[in-house]
Amino acid sequence: MQDQNQGIEYDLIVVGAGTAGSIIAAHLAEDGVRARDGEPLRIAMIEAGPYLRGKLRPGYGVQSRRARFSNVSHQEGYRWTWPWPESCKMVGGSSMHWGNNGYVPQEMDYLHWMDESGVDWSQDKFKDAVQEIVDEFNLGDVPAEVHTPGNRLFRETVESMGWETRFVPTGRKNCIYCGLCGANFCRFDARPNVLGYVSRAEQKGVELVPDAEVDRVIIEKKGEKGVVRGVVFKQEDGTVRELRAEKVLVSCGAHGTPILLGRSGYGPREQLGDKTLVHNPNVGNNLEMQPGNDVWAEYDVDLKSERGAGNYGHYFYPDFPADGHNVVSIRDTIMSFPTYPRFAALTSFAPPFGQSHKEYMRTAIRRVGGIRSSIMTPLVKGSVDVITGATNYPYSDPKNVERLNWSAEIMREIHRKMGAKKIEEVGNSASFLGGHPTGTCRAGSDPKESVVNPHFESHDVENLLICDGSVIPNACLAHKCIPVCTIAAFAARRIIADHYTRA
Ligand SMILES: Cc1cc2nc3c(=O)[nH]c(=O)nc-3n(C[C@H](O)[C@H](O)[C@H](O)COP(=O)(O)OP(=O)(O)OC[C@H]3O[C@@H](n4cnc5c(N)ncnc54)[C@H](O)[C@@H]3O)c2cc1C
Ligand code: SF4
Repeated sequence: MQDQNQGIEYDLIVVGAGTAGSIIAAHLAEDGVRARDGEPLRIAMIEAGPYLRGKLRPGYGVQSRRARFSNVSHQEGYRWTWPWPESCKMVGGSSMHWGNNGYVPQEMDYLHWMDESGVDWSQDKFKDAVQEIVDEFNLGDVPAEVHTPGNRLFRETVESMGWETRFVPTGRKNCIYCGLCGANFCRFDARPNVLGYVSRAEQKGVELVPDAEVDRVIIEKKGEKGVVRGVVFKQEDGTVRELRAEKVLVSCGAHGTPILLGRSGYGPREQLGDKTLVHNPNVGNNLEMQPGNDVWAEYDVDLKSERGAGNYGHYFYPDFPADGHNVVSIRDTIMSFPTYPRFAALTSFAPPFGQSHKEYMRTAIRRVGGIRSSIMTPLVKGSVDVITGATNYPYSDPKNVERLNWSAEIMREIHRKMGAKKIEEVGNSASFLGGHPTGTCRAGSDPKESVVNPHFESHDVENLLICDGSVIPNACLAHKCIPVCTIAAFAARRIIADHYTRA
């Protein structure tokens, strides 16, 4: 194993240059100082995936980032994705490929977080962080003019059924509305990501090490607890290096973080056995996903004849339980951009082969559309195995199934009223997949119920900080990217005040 710090003493190592890690690194480099002498911080940021460099010029893009994968959905394996759902492996993390449903957390979300685990994260305390992210991501509504005929039909139909629709907020910068958003990257960097923060961090001296997977955080035992000493990581050429630092911030995402902690001996004894250095059963536990289902339909008309917003149109809540739990959101997601042929070909109404299949496929990408529902605030929890990384989420739990079957009926009714020719019979538990994992290293006031305190400090390991999707106490009414960003912007402010302000 090679050294090491080559004479440099790091104040902080950030593991994972993803969504949260990059935001925090930029803030700390710009506004933090060493508490003992007021000197600038020495920060290294280590990322398992590549750095696709190039100045951010929204609306133009750069060559290196056009090499990014496209048409890759959450579950597909690829060298720039992790084997677990919804996780990109590159500088910028999952913000490089998020679908751009840009909802900020609502008042109910803060109340749920405080109620779930006792964090003091009130909406009021998050004001500055939210404003920062709304500005940075340029969040707002896409112009109504770029909605597709399918989007408009959906809105009129849903409103005629007595529900109120809202535009799905998105973030765009210099977007030309090419209509190719869907499950793709934006070739033109018009869909905001955190590369702006990465560049700010670098300008302020953060040393970014891409293509280097951290194998473990070095934790020394201190009684029943532990203390952090640095990290061990493997570079692309196979060289294993050890880097020492006073503090380590782990920011590897809702799967990556519990897995790395498990590899470091920090987690549930039941799973780690004699490899346990520090026991905490909450590492990898309390997983919440947002299970969902789609109902597809075939129409006679061209649903997508205009270019389209490239992404999401409208959403509504068919009901809203008073406590804000088990809330379902229904959206016209798949009315907004041409249907990918692989999806159109696999619907139950696609003729299986031959000339009729060919005929159908000729126009299907414009005539086949879908409506999607998700349980935003599910009642059901699961876990991530810290050894194998497997997600154990009971999508088919009766509580999920009941709610999603109910929403599938509503979606079918909307398709019928929209004039669909054929409507898929699915919407059953087989299609109950969902993303946006949270809670696997959740923040909370009680060390028995959580992994970090509301200040992002590990309850059990001194000088270990954690911030990413894993610390979010439970799923919120928003999708996850913007909540992760706002929590990171909030965490950065707290970490600077607690650790990196001149004493
Ligand atoms: C295809 C897709 C669509 C999505 N759509 C939406 C959407 O429409 N709206 C929305 O709000 N959210 C969406 N999301 C979710 C959102 O983008 C993510 O939840 C959020 O970006 C996660 O942020 P994070 O900081 O927790 O993790 P990430 O941004 O994933 O960062 C983790 C980083 O850590 C690195 N890492 C992991 N392990 C190691 C290790 N051992 N050593 C070194 N580095 C490591 C990873 O490579 C990664 O760069 C989507 C995500 C995906 C992938
Ligand atoms: S519609 Fe999407 S892919 Fe096209 S320029 Fe805008 S953000 Fe990029």
